[in-house]
Amino acid sequence: MGKLSIVATPIGNLEDITLRALRTLKECDVIYAEDTRVISKLLVRYEIQKPLQRLDAATESKKAEDIIARLEAGEHVAFVSDAGTPAVSDPGSRLVGAVRARGWTAIEAIPGPSALTAAVSIAGLAAGEFFFIGFLPHKKGRQTAIKHIAESDVPVVLYESPHRILKLLRELSQAGVSKVGVARELTKMHEEFISGTPEEIAQSLEARGAVRGEFVVIIEPRD
Ligand code: SAM
Repeated sequence: MGKLSIVATPIGNLEDITLRALRTLKECDVIYAEDTRVISKLLVRYEIQKPLQRLDAATESKKAEDIIARLEAGEHVAFVSDAGTPAVSDPGSRLVGAVRARGWTAIEAIPGPSALTAAVSIAGLAAGEFFFIGFLPHKKGRQTAIKHIAESDVPVVLYESPHRILKLLRELSQAGVSKVGVARELTKMHEEFISGTPEEIAQSLEARGAVRGEFVVIIEPRD
């Protein structure tokens, strides 16, 4: 019987991979990944040789059909998330949705790293709860989302790219947000966690010249 494994891969440091994830990658018939270059580095490091297929936003419906055909033929398919889990801000959740919609239930999670939980674990949040909203919309609905974040009584955690982080911080500042934590390059050489007002953090990042890295932003409620 075919099986689909959703495998959490590192968010930077290649040592952050579970023994079970490595065994799954060694045992499966084929690996699907959003970015095959990233997963290739991991496979080389752990001396794993497997057929590799790209599954990105442009190809996901077609590749989902291919995967369903493989599962029906009894293959073990591994999908590796892009930069950790929960696989909601990458094609993973839509792939699982498509496979479940066909009534396929042999889907297993191989848990592991997550930029979301890594950032929250070092944020020192006073509240025992948070909302996670993935990436903000780029255009339509963005201002409404920012307003909701600024009014939230619960910390809000989101992902942001280096291209939009300054814009986001300025938008949060204008919406009245006063306390933000920014986790940058988690598990990598230049890992850091910066806290302050959105404007202070924007100035600190701007002062370095080009803004680089991957970001998780934690917006704290007003006191
Ligand atoms: N697969 C995960 C998911 O679906 O939730 C994450 C996917 S998303 C494409 C990648 C985003 O995670 C980045 O834009 C960044 O916001 C965050 N991220 C990934 N690695 C990170 C790191 N090392 N440090 C900080 N943020 C990171």
